[in-house]
Amino acid sequence: MKIETYYMCPVCTKEYWTQSEAIECRNSHPVVKKQIYYCEACGQGWNPDAIWGPKGAADRARKCEQEHRDKGEFEEVSIRTFFLSGGRHGRYYEP
Ligand SMILES: [Zn+2]
Ligand SMILES: [Zn+2]
Repeated sequence: MKIETYYMCPVCTKEYWTQSEAIECRNSHPVVKKQIYYCEACGQGWNPDAIWGPKGAADRARKCEQEHRDKGEFEEVSIRTFFLSGGRHGRYYEP
């Protein structure tokens, strides 16, 4: 028997005889920019690529923030989210 080794680009699955060509191919693919619109209080996120579009995602995030304000819990929820997310979401307000 005979074993043949080839290399495949993990992005487009094109095959190459050398690893360096496959790596070059992989690196030639552009990265995809993605965004998520987050509620600044609870950290819930909406994808602007979804059916509601960027405007719908923004509306939902703003509406969620407004609901926290209406309930008078905006800062409280923000601080909780801040700690739960390790500082990624929410915000720390000085007590
Ligand atoms: Zn490729
Ligand atoms: Zn929220």
